[in-house]
Amino acid sequence: MEQSDILKAITTHPTIIIHRHIHPDFDAIGSQIALKKTLQQSFPEKKVFAMGGAEKSLEWIGSMDMIEDDQYRDALVIVCDTAETKRISDQRCLMGETLVKIDHHSDGESYGDLRWIDPSYSSVCEMLGDLFFSYPETFKLTNEAASALYAGIMGDTGMLKNGMAGERTLRIVSQIKKFAFKSDRIHRLMKKSGTDFSKWKPFVSYRAQVTEQGIASLRVTKEMLVNLRLDSSEAASLIHALTAYVPARIWVLFIEEDGKIRVRIRSKTIAVNEIAKNYGGGGHRLAAGALLSSWEETEEMIEELGEKRMR
Ligand code: AMP
Repeated sequence: MEQSDILKAITTHPTIIIHRHIHPDFDAIGSQIALKKTLQQSFPEKKVFAMGGAEKSLEWIGSMDMIEDDQYRDALVIVCDTAETKRISDQRCLMGETLVKIDHHSDGESYGDLRWIDPSYSSVCEMLGDLFFSYPETFKLTNEAASALYAGIMGDTGMLKNGMAGERTLRIVSQIKKFAFKSDRIHRLMKKSGTDFSKWKPFVSYRAQVTEQGIASLRVTKEMLVNLRLDSSEAASLIHALTAYVPARIWVLFIEEDGKIRVRIRSKTIAVNEIAKNYGGGGHRLAAGALLSSWEETEEMIEELGEKRMR
């Protein structure tokens, strides 16, 4: 899809509602807030909302709106960074007049009336940066929008250190940096949002299991969440402690949540998204996830990852 098709959809709808995925990360919230702020600045006559469950640790990027169902009538709904409809936070996104998907995940469902999907981008924030800077007459970026784009790009590229950051990424970051925001503040806040995981070193070192093939896994049950007084976003951040303190090739965090088991997988070099896909999940080569139905499935997944590692 051409960027100009998105532009046309934006200009013709009086209400624009922006969604992103559940368990949001820097790119999900960053792209959503950057798009909202930029559209508000560029089209002051339009109503623009950001929707989805609140994520306290990322509220420094921007907060969510609350709207009634009838706002969706005649609305353009844009979903950022979400490969599949089942993972969109707030399913009212399907009630709009026109649905647009903007994503950089290579696989996934082809939902929406219009789609801009391009895995050559590091992040949806990079995609939006490219769109905004390609149409400077149309899109007026604010400092707040620029800082949200910056956080999303930094998040998905591991502070520009992983293979996702290419020549175009750096060009867009250099354009974003012309805006008046303090990147050192963003780095500080990003570090804090990951929570200080050093206190979890004894816990993960004791609890993690590592197979002969170098697959480290940590299972966090419902009881453990209660005993450790962890909410789901803090539990999710245990993946940072696992990768930092448990030497392995692949790290897998299982968290029991709402009768399912959320899986976060990270890998140094071996592609893990194919395995996640076998379990109805997905993601990127080195960072993927899925939702499992039983603890037995967690065993199967570890075995499959081990087989993949041996190949
Ligand atoms: P996370 O570990 O939640 O940061 O997710 C890492 C990557 O995997 C992201 O690109 C997610 O979009 C993707 N992902 C995580 N969980 C799922 C899932 N249940 N289904 C599809 N993709 C997922």
